[in-house]
Amino acid sequence: MLEELTLTCEAADCDRRLAAESPAIAMSTPDGTRRAYECDCGAVTITVLRE
Ligand SMILES: [Zn+2]
Repeated sequence: MLEELTLTCEAADCDRRLAAESPAIAMSTPDGTRRAYECDCGAVTITVLRE
């Protein structure tokens, strides 16, 4: 399984990098691990890592 090492903010006018190893929220679900990252611009990017 490849983990995303380079995350960028999903906001259209923002291309900041997000620290993949330090999500604001990490939550395990049956579909995988959901992580939420809060950018300095205020946008929240959510990723799902499938096991
Ligand atoms: Zn941003």
